[in-house]
Amino acid sequence: MVEVHVVPALTDNYIHIIHDAAHGLTIVVDPGEAAPVRAFLSERGWRLTHILATHHHGDHIGGIPDLRADSHAMLIGPRAEIDRIPEMDATHGEGDIFTLGSQTVRVFDTPGHTRGHCAFFFEEARLLFSGDTLFSLGCGRLFEGTPAQMWDSLSTLRALPGDTRVHCGHEYTASNARFARSIDPDNAALKARAEEVAALRAKGLPTVPSRLSDEIAANPFLRADDPGLAAHFGMTGAPPATVFAAIRKAKDEFRG
Ligand SMILES: [Zn+2]
Repeated sequence: MVEVHVVPALTDNYIHIIHDAAHGLTIVVDPGEAAPVRAFLSERGWRLTHILATHHHGDHIGGIPDLRADSHAMLIGPRAEIDRIPEMDATHGEGDIFTLGSQTVRVFDTPGHTRGHCAFFFEEARLLFSGDTLFSLGCGRLFEGTPAQMWDSLSTLRALPGDTRVHCGHEYTASNARFARSIDPDNAALKARAEEVAALRAKGLPTVPSRLSDEIAANPFLRADDPGLAAHFGMTGAPPATVFAAIRKAKDEFRG
């Protein structure tokens, strides 16, 4: 199978490194800077073979030119960002499937944060690389898409197996937990996750990855069709995408 590592970068980014020893593959997802990846690889004597990019933001692709200069690793990214991520060797879109060593990789278009964002699901290992679409207890800001698009994107990811590990792009979980608790205070799964997050952060440990089933129970952005959340916003009976828009707006305005 594969091993996966989460490497902190920049201020609060995570870079993900997947190693498939049997097939001689080392894959990096969203390298916002090269230095921490270089250090991690050289410690282990691994040579980079593939780079996956979820979207074009600099804190996700900034390290690519230096890493490719080292290794000539193959760069794979979203077809919808073909004009925004330089020199991709292969592009993929919704429903595409490709193989990387032992893994079947499924691609989902997940617009909302950027119009061309995609997510990668490593099927056998149950690993989801969600970029800035799905965070632990949160979701990405809507820079280029509509709430309805983002709800659609998150609904696609929510349908993956519950034991999927969600590898997202940022350590925002503690602040996301404060907001989530403010709108969903009686949710026991959320309370438990918030306590776990506080304990991890107090030790300086990452809260990423998380289990998808835990996110489904606790993350308000995956719960816009929950009647309790709709009621909190005085929107009982409203379409989930409309409730989702209210949750996203409340988060954008949240100070806490
Ligand atoms: Zn981004």
